[in-house]
Amino acid sequence: MTLADLYRDLHQHPELGFAETRTAAVAARELRAAGFETTEGVGGTGVVGVLRNGDGPTVLLRADMDALPVAERTGLPYASTAVVDRDGQAVPVAHVCGHDVHVTCLVGAVRELAAGRDTWQGTVVAVFQPAEEVGGGAQAMIDDGLFDRFGKPDVVLGQHVAPIPAGFLGLRAGPAFAASDTVRVTLYGEGGHGSRPEASVDPVVMAAATVLRLQTIVSREVAGGDTAVVTVGAIRSGTVANIIPDDAELLLSVRSYRPAVRARVLAAVERVVRAEAAASGATRAPEIVVLSSYPAVVNDAEAVARTRVGLAGVVTDQRVVDPGPVTGSEDVGVFATAAGVPLVYWLLGGADPGAFAHAATVEEVREVVGGLPANHSPLFAPVISPTLEVGVAALVAGARAWLSSMS
Ligand code: ZN
Ligand code: ZN
Repeated sequence: MTLADLYRDLHQHPELGFAETRTAAVAARELRAAGFETTEGVGGTGVVGVLRNGDGPTVLLRADMDALPVAERTGLPYASTAVVDRDGQAVPVAHVCGHDVHVTCLVGAVRELAAGRDTWQGTVVAVFQPAEEVGGGAQAMIDDGLFDRFGKPDVVLGQHVAPIPAGFLGLRAGPAFAASDTVRVTLYGEGGHGSRPEASVDPVVMAAATVLRLQTIVSREVAGGDTAVVTVGAIRSGTVANIIPDDAELLLSVRSYRPAVRARVLAAVERVVRAEAAASGATRAPEIVVLSSYPAVVNDAEAVARTRVGLAGVVTDQRVVDPGPVTGSEDVGVFATAAGVPLVYWLLGGADPGAFAHAATVEEVREVVGGLPANHSPLFAPVISPTLEVGVAALVAGARAWLSSMS
């Protein structure tokens, strides 16, 4: 099967985190066909392929496999129409983060590295990871003995497709993707009749005041040279107009790069929530639960320099660009941190180069990128070519920058 066909097939069969059974079977089939020792069911639906090819460094190449609960609206002939049942509800599913691109490119790299094994020495570990979007997929594989069973790598490499022009790669030393914390806040009031606020503690007003006060954390407590984001993405309370409800729930997404900033922002969230509850006269303390956490993705500077040479050989030096820090988050860094080895994680251009025809300067390119449907948009639609070719070549060249050369 050509890689383009494989991509369209995966795109039409998206699966949610920890339910990637079909995708995992495709990955395993391809690994076996390329001659990799293949193990399925690592950390749930994860798949690991190992190709031992003499003495030399071990390179871990990682692709995530999961899709998102989004109805695709790209109108592409191969757009997803998938719907799954989740807790009795019909949920549309689509690869709007491009993890199908990642799987396809790693399959392509596995094929190429296996076919060219007389030109390099060392070990390639191909990791197809479940559940990046919901968090916990990388950790689940580590907890299932990834490094004990398949060996510790010398470096962890991976890529994420993004709406920068296809044919370009984005690579940045240091913090590249933000740390992310998802926090659930439950505010407790005292319900009552809508006509008698004096006999109740209104959690709706408490929630509204909390949402506004949370906005001051980034503007008043984070230094101008630092970055953080606090987004209240969901607010739920009440049912009808004439009842004051008992409680209110807020769901927060917190992003940051530096551990000190992260600690300060999370502490401020807790302080503000507790203080607003107290200010409202709540008789019961609010509940604050961190639902999931991703550490920041930090690229090792020395390892970036070494890998960059390989990537520049694929797209030219001018086309390996610094995308700046991304406020999106990723759990790929968990592999490198757990193994105690460097990480190099780059952006793979997936946007139609035609969209950039009139962008002459870097500033104009940035402007076009800002206007394109980004990852998680129902309109996110990476072009198949040259995205896949570049993605495969980048993984191979990145790995070859670390493996011993025999040619
Ligand atoms: Zn995503
Ligand atoms: Zn993603």
